[in-house]
Amino acid sequence: MRFGHPWIFSGALAKPPETTGPVLADILNSRGELLGQGFYTPHARLAVRMLTVAGEAAFSTATIHRRLASAIERRDHLFTAENNSARLVFAESDFLPGLVVDRFAAKLSVQFNSAFSEHYRAEILAALQTLVTSAKIIDTSDNEARNREQLLPVSRIDNAEETVILSGGIRYAIRAGAGQKTGFYLDQRTNRAIVATHAAGRRVLDAFCYSGSFSLACAKAGAAAVTAIDSSADALALFKRNLELNATDFNANTPVKPVQADVFEELRKLKSAGEKFDLIVLDPPKLAPSRSKMDAAEKAYKDLSLQALHLASPGALLATFSCSGAMTFDKLRQVLHYAAHDAGKQLQILQPLMQAEDHPVLLAFPESEYLRGYLCRIW
Ligand code: SAH
Repeated sequence: MRFGHPWIFSGALAKPPETTGPVLADILNSRGELLGQGFYTPHARLAVRMLTVAGEAAFSTATIHRRLASAIERRDHLFTAENNSARLVFAESDFLPGLVVDRFAAKLSVQFNSAFSEHYRAEILAALQTLVTSAKIIDTSDNEARNREQLLPVSRIDNAEETVILSGGIRYAIRAGAGQKTGFYLDQRTNRAIVATHAAGRRVLDAFCYSGSFSLACAKAGAAAVTAIDSSADALALFKRNLELNATDFNANTPVKPVQADVFEELRKLKSAGEKFDLIVLDPPKLAPSRSKMDAAEKAYKDLSLQALHLASPGALLATFSCSGAMTFDKLRQVLHYAAHDAGKQLQILQPLMQAEDHPVLLAFPESEYLRGYLCRIW
């Protein structure tokens, strides 16, 4: 807390407030000095989410409105002729603990993932409605997170209605309220653009493609061919829809091949078939859900990297990602180094890659840094 971390776990509280329900409380240190105000949730391990620091104006619903307005205004420049979607609120990083708001064209996908955000649900919804006029709001809360804060699950309306968004000049069909995460990986927006600048004329392999965002960006940028792999039939159905939506923009000569398979197996098959690629994207799901799973996750990342390296043509590029909070840049580099060694290849790092700026990393809150990657050249 001294360094401004916004969480206090229940074990660290000497004298929790006497309350049966969640409350706004003054938080004092062991010397009785005021640290600030926090939102206290009885029975939750993550007992306090800090809202203000000592000396700041007292927290009120006006604070929520102000923080929402400021978070939204900071993203104004992201909305352009090419882009109508971005994360508007990234929880603790925007000083609104456990609240996530994504804008997908005219829809707002809102997650109330903390007792704090749930407590102020009505105020948050009212503020959003005035700040983003004519937006349709959909609750996409994460029930696992809610459960940890003693909140009832939100019944997921399986919102079958398709919304077509524009990101990086490409149209994507999303179904907010259904699908994975909130329907689209907004956090990869800048990385898709970076990868696409290298795609012209290259044979691209997009492993863990989901709805094909990297594939589409590369195809649009003039890739020679694209092979995309995902194990989920739903993801590939979305991908095919996205191909249709963008058909007129693409060079008809770029064959795009979606493959439904397990990436770990398919990469081995491609190797046996003697296939080579000039640009490889590896964007696996969270392989290390917690620090205790790091060993297994590192093995999986290494195997994945090794299999990818086997498929690389000389001078090929690799854009590799991890969305496990526990996988630091150093760890990722070490895994890549081991894989390169085993593959008998050299790797040059061209640039580190991270989550897009609408998912800011708050230095006082290291948990907010989760998407890391490298763009490398393989020799
Ligand atoms: N690159 C995507 C996001 C990938 S999310 C984008 O930018 O939109 C991770 C994806 O991996 C999910 O779509 C999930 O279905 C897929 N997946 C998880 N395990 C897999 C496996 N073993 N083989 C293939 N796909 C897998």
